[in-house]
Amino acid sequence: MPEKKRAVATDLRRALGSEKVLDDVPTLTAYAVDASIYKIVPQAVVLAESEADIQTVVTYAVRTGVPLTPRAAGTNLTGSAIGSGIILDISRLNRILELNHDEQWVRVQPGIVFAELNKRLAGHGLLFGPDPSSGDMCKLGGMLANNSSGPHTLRYGSVKDNVQALRVCLSSADWLEARSYGLGDPALNDLLATHPPLRTVLELVRQQAELIRAKRPTVSKNSCGYNLFGLVDGLDRAVFDLPKLFVGSEGTLGVISEATLRVVARPKASATALIHFRSLEDVGDAVPQLLALSPSALEVMDANTLNLIGRDRHGIPDDAAATLLAEFDQDGGPDDLREQATRLTSLCRRYRLSSDPVVAFDQEQRDQLWKARKALYPTLYRYDQRKKPINYVDDVVVRAERISELIRYLEEFFRAQRIAVAIFGHIGNGNAHIVPLLDVNDREDFARMVEGYRDIHQTVLTRFGGSICGEHGDGRVRAEFVRRMYGEELYDLFVQVKRSLDPTGVLNPGVKISDTSFTEHIDYTRLSKACATCGKCNSVCPVYDVFQSEDMSSRGWFEIVTSKDYSYLNSKRVVEACLNCKSCRTICPADVDVSDLILKRRAEHPNRMAGLIFALHARPWLFEPLLKAAARTQWLWDRPRPRAWLEWITRPLMRRIAETSRLPRDMVLPRMATRHLRERYPELARNAASGRSSVAYFHGCAANYLDDGVGDAVIAVLRRHGVEPALPAQRCSGTPIQTYGHLKLVLEGARHNLASLERYDTVITGCASCTLMLKDYPGLFEAGPEREAAERLARRVKHITEFVAESKETPDQGTGTVRTRKVTYHSSCHLRAAGVTKAPRKVLAALPGVEFIEMEDADRCAGGAGTYILKDYDTAAKIFDRKRRAIEDSGADVVATSCPACMIQLNNGLRGTVQVKHVAELLRDSYETAQGSRGTVPSSKP
Ligand SMILES: Cc1cc2nc3c(=O)[nH]c(=O)nc-3n(C[C@H](O)[C@H](O)[C@H](O)COP(=O)(O)OP(=O)(O)OC[C@H]3O[C@@H](n4cnc5c(N)ncnc54)[C@H](O)[C@@H]3O)c2cc1C
Ligand code: SF4
Ligand code: SF4
Repeated sequence: MPEKKRAVATDLRRALGSEKVLDDVPTLTAYAVDASIYKIVPQAVVLAESEADIQTVVTYAVRTGVPLTPRAAGTNLTGSAIGSGIILDISRLNRILELNHDEQWVRVQPGIVFAELNKRLAGHGLLFGPDPSSGDMCKLGGMLANNSSGPHTLRYGSVKDNVQALRVCLSSADWLEARSYGLGDPALNDLLATHPPLRTVLELVRQQAELIRAKRPTVSKNSCGYNLFGLVDGLDRAVFDLPKLFVGSEGTLGVISEATLRVVARPKASATALIHFRSLEDVGDAVPQLLALSPSALEVMDANTLNLIGRDRHGIPDDAAATLLAEFDQDGGPDDLREQATRLTSLCRRYRLSSDPVVAFDQEQRDQLWKARKALYPTLYRYDQRKKPINYVDDVVVRAERISELIRYLEEFFRAQRIAVAIFGHIGNGNAHIVPLLDVNDREDFARMVEGYRDIHQTVLTRFGGSICGEHGDGRVRAEFVRRMYGEELYDLFVQVKRSLDPTGVLNPGVKISDTSFTEHIDYTRLSKACATCGKCNSVCPVYDVFQSEDMSSRGWFEIVTSKDYSYLNSKRVVEACLNCKSCRTICPADVDVSDLILKRRAEHPNRMAGLIFALHARPWLFEPLLKAAARTQWLWDRPRPRAWLEWITRPLMRRIAETSRLPRDMVLPRMATRHLRERYPELARNAASGRSSVAYFHGCAANYLDDGVGDAVIAVLRRHGVEPALPAQRCSGTPIQTYGHLKLVLEGARHNLASLERYDTVITGCASCTLMLKDYPGLFEAGPEREAAERLARRVKHITEFVAESKETPDQGTGTVRTRKVTYHSSCHLRAAGVTKAPRKVLAALPGVEFIEMEDADRCAGGAGTYILKDYDTAAKIFDRKRRAIEDSGADVVATSCPACMIQLNNGLRGTVQVKHVAELLRDSYETAQGSRGTVPSSKP
């Protein structure tokens, strides 16, 4: 092995270039964890971009003996995507290479996210069936290597049942086309001649076929050990079924660079039923009967799980002993689903239920029913500060008809241990996820964990004849028990297979085939933190979307900024890369706000240049004349040559904000206002002084200083709804100031705004960021009068779209323009974080002459994020690429949004190809058209 740790990265950099090889402190910190309970710090991380990269890394690892761990999304629960040597992240290899609709297969790279793949396939009426609950974040490479499955395995099987071929880089650095070869096929002879280890494997399986058959678990799902059972089945069909060997091998036999997957037609429609049973025994009895109705999914959550996730929060009756989710796909005519639902309801009524089954046919309602189930494990992180859900017996399988007996046994076991436990899972397959809540730093809890690990796994094997692993993989957590599950003879066969294909043992050592105790490498520090490391936030983090690298991701940042090795200097690169879009906070099931942690770290090093600008900004008598001068001369300086000069001359100043910061010459700047909003509506400013109105309009900076039409539109809309608002004195809500670490200035502004807005019943906003910031003010203050004032304000803040959606006034909107306009909606991140998602859509859909189209990725960040567009224009542009595709694919004439800052990014990115409008502008236009058609067009813009 290279003598010095840094030598690995240096060697690899020489071979691959510095862009793809990282070994700085934040990167190694971020890659030291996955979604398991373990932590191992690697020596280097490679971000592979081609097969050649993979081959180079494999060659290097084998030559030097440095361990190599392939990694996709790092959402496994077993510690299989961390290692002490090189982490080979394949996330950047994420394309769909080929789709054959007629033959129903798709060829993909391993870095594609499962949900993305299925979104793309949906456009062709197709679907890749096996669906882990982590499907929003996990990637095909991990799914293949883990033989993943999920709720719909009942219908579609596990990954192993849906793979036609793989392309694998073996430890010899040769590429293998791993498909099914006929035993008499000359191609097989060629293959075995090229790859002698495969001949060894074939011979071993042939010779030991009886032993393998005898040891096959008699349950419907199993991912423990190597799938030699699949190879024996292949021999029975006279084929060498190679994909079976590599699917489920957890990166221990080779690195997958491509997969050809079987896809199926999407069901035309589906229905989801929620059934609350009052008795666990009834569940056991009902399962075989429900299975006879051929559901595509059948899931369970036991009473403890329901308590832990909060019955009230999810509307679960107090007396429910277990809740079942059943899903049916439409196979026959349109009435088929309703018939299924009727049959299910009458079947369930034979049992003691807490209430009649709820059956949802509508996609949104169905998603709602699945939401709690899919985020169950990380949600358990909210339960207790110290006791965390620990995955060490998380994936056992028994025969489906014995599942309630298993649950009863487990509940008694954990009751005796005095440990809270959540038991849930794929009941239709008898696959139970068992997640006890423990403090692993507590000696007694630790001992209980070790006892439970051995007792439960042993009981599942001996009493239930089951498997210790249904779908999550063996990883580090179950490796020591694989031998006990299969016995010495079969385990020895696994070892021989591993040695044939990986003679130097560099491929993911410690995983699957290992005697190391499951308690080695437990991350005791992390298991007392708030983050479940589930990776869900990465799936929405715009920075991760662009970089596909854990050091540039929300989950990675949590690890980095909470690490004991953290310092602003060693982590500045990553800490400054966050957009503060809050998408991570909106989605996190464990209630973690990564963006807030980052802001706190930035507050330890406030940016001085930004501080000077904000200090100027806080002095309107000085700031506003300067802005107006800029506005009056914009026609002059906002042209190509002066802009090039401006970019150059402002460069040194911009650099002091961030290395990447600049005023790009080609950026479409918003028009600046020569008369600010407050000057255009002096009567509304007077309303504030006279106390005549109970409704305040908090316009924020953009609507005041820019000529973007938003402020005028909001005021016009309010007037149409019979409200003459006041424009109270106001300071910046604080979002941009907080982004640059100036907490003191934020507090000053917040105090000013609290005092100024205190007396209004309603505070209307037109800007997503102002809406969120005003609602978030309570978090700025300690408990006391200021916090109370902030809480009062938070309750009274309303975005203009909420106001209109709730308004009892229904101004005439006319019948719309002659030509119907297609309008789509970009949902601003901060408005989503403020919980406002439905109102803007409702308002748009109700506009006459508007065909509202929901676009793909409507809820993803557009990359503007206030001033981020100036802080890192290139990354902002890369983030926008995805949004542009979504807008263009939607076919919309207009993209509407609820935030002036997003409008800047949309206008810059779209450059007039699609019109950009604030929802308030579209509303105002519609009211004015109605008025105009009656011959009285009021001018709302003085
Ligand atoms: C909240 C939550 C819910 C989950 N629900 C389910 C579920 O319902 N069903 C289920 O099966 N799992 C579930 N999981 C576990 C996990 O998400 C899945 O196993 C997933 O398929 C792992 O994919 P990944 O991209 O994260 O892989 P990673 O964690 O990155 O890697 C997993 C394994 O694959 C190997 N690997 C990755 N890429 C390659 C490659 N190109 N070549 C060779 N080996 C490779 C790694 O070395 C590792 O051994 C859940 C996890 C979480 C956090
Ligand atoms: S911050 Fe939340 S969503 Fe992100 S990894 Fe942690 S628990 Fe999961
Ligand atoms: S705020 Fe946005 S950019 Fe920052 S970590 Fe969260 S999701 Fe990523």
